[in-house]
Amino acid sequence: AALNNGDSASVNKLPSVKFTKLFINGEFQDSVSGKTFESIDPRTGDVIARISEGDKEDVDIAVRAARYAFDFGPWPRMSGADRGKILMKWAELIDEHAEELATLDAIDAGKLYHICKNLEVPAAANTLRYYAGAADKVHGEVLKMSRQFHAYTLLEPVGVVGHITPWNFPNTMFYIKVAPSLAAGCTMVVKPAEQTPLSALYNAHLAKLAGIPDGVVNVVTGFGPTAGAALSSHMDVDKVSFTGSTQTGREIMQAAAKSNLKQVSLELGGKSPLIIFDDADIDKAVELALIGILYNKGEVCVASSRVFVQEGIYDEFEKKLVEKAKAWVVGDPFDPKVQQGPQVDKEQFEKILSYIEHGKREGATLLTGGKTVGNKGYFIEPTIFSDIKEDMLIAQDEIFGPVMALKKFKTIDEAIKSANNTKYGLAAGIVTKNLDTANTLSRSIRAGTVWINCYLAFGDDVPFGGYKMSGFGKDHGLEALHKYLQVKSVVTPLYNSPW
Ligand code: ADP
Repeated sequence: AALNNGDSASVNKLPSVKFTKLFINGEFQDSVSGKTFESIDPRTGDVIARISEGDKEDVDIAVRAARYAFDFGPWPRMSGADRGKILMKWAELIDEHAEELATLDAIDAGKLYHICKNLEVPAAANTLRYYAGAADKVHGEVLKMSRQFHAYTLLEPVGVVGHITPWNFPNTMFYIKVAPSLAAGCTMVVKPAEQTPLSALYNAHLAKLAGIPDGVVNVVTGFGPTAGAALSSHMDVDKVSFTGSTQTGREIMQAAAKSNLKQVSLELGGKSPLIIFDDADIDKAVELALIGILYNKGEVCVASSRVFVQEGIYDEFEKKLVEKAKAWVVGDPFDPKVQQGPQVDKEQFEKILSYIEHGKREGATLLTGGKTVGNKGYFIEPTIFSDIKEDMLIAQDEIFGPVMALKKFKTIDEAIKSANNTKYGLAAGIVTKNLDTANTLSRSIRAGTVWINCYLAFGDDVPFGGYKMSGFGKDHGLEALHKYLQVKSVVTPLYNSPW
């Protein structure tokens, strides 16, 4: 894959970044310490902007604002319909500002600009619309209980939520977390990943324009072990919703347990299998396998990082796969011809390269890729290893880069066993025309999402979340709305009872 320097006018041009400070109680402000950190452009390693570095004191101030807005402010007391109206307005603003949001994610995270502008940013607006429409459909049940009593349940917002988000889908993840919790009537503090703080701050500005009351949505930028940890161990935060690595998820759950036993939901790592059977359309399967691992340069929690192919088509599949991977265009994410931008930062870039070296040392066959692209920035070639043994590190660890582990299999039972041979359980893909095979596999694989003859197909109404060490608690769907609600049972005597 050659580095495509591109010819679009926006290449290498840095937009001016408007919002660089913490957003608390409806105002952009400096951190208490006055410290800042650099946001880096992964295309070049250059500094894009200096961002306020929030720490414990800033989290305290933000949580106080969110607490006040929850205990005394209008947001939880408004009708669902009124909340929905504001969320709908916010969705319109996202569409109007799609270029800015796409640009920020492209320069901050190395994401493809055109995919962001045409796909991911409009999808984020639709996420808000989905929950806007659900906000006035939240209700409990009436329960018969007994002859003397009856009961009903109230669904109440869980309170102040801390959202801790990762760097691979900065804008999308902001809305996946914020939209259902707002519809539920919660108030919140968002801690975006330190690698990619820009779109979250821009979104805070849009929240204000949309009419979200002060203190309801606060954004504290800063690092994980400081600002993130302050949020997950805060005594006045009622729930933490986290997406990120399994190790950090563990730390967040410990912090929650040690502080106020706040509720936790965790969307963590994956090592998702894609299983391709002899009866598959080979060209389509090759396409799915490549998109599955190369979308967003492999920085995707559900990336199809393990691909199992049945022996009858294996050779032809491998040949076509390698041909297409070699032709994959790596380069500037603003160039519409480019299919893969730079990895998010130097740390991830080096981590991926060290896994590639590990794969070679472990004795896997490097079919293509394995090298960096260009002489600046964090670009890596699409990389495919075959002759995988399942205990190899590259077949077990989440690499979070454009690195595929390819393996041949014979029988359905062998495929099921291999698919489940992981501590993770986020997603899986099956490619076959045989309904019995598809049904058997979709019930046998321990994963939260199974894609049959497709991959990376997400929907606002389709719950998403892991099994096993990929976490618990769902994003998307009404499940996500309910994760920000709690059930209160109210009991009352029916008629002149002895009570
Ligand atoms: P990665 O290791 O790939 O950067 P993380 O899971 O560490 O992924 O990061 C996801 C989010 O979790 C980021 O917003 C990060 O700042 C935050 N984070 C990291 N460490 C902690 C921690 N100890 N407590 C709370 N949040 C954290």
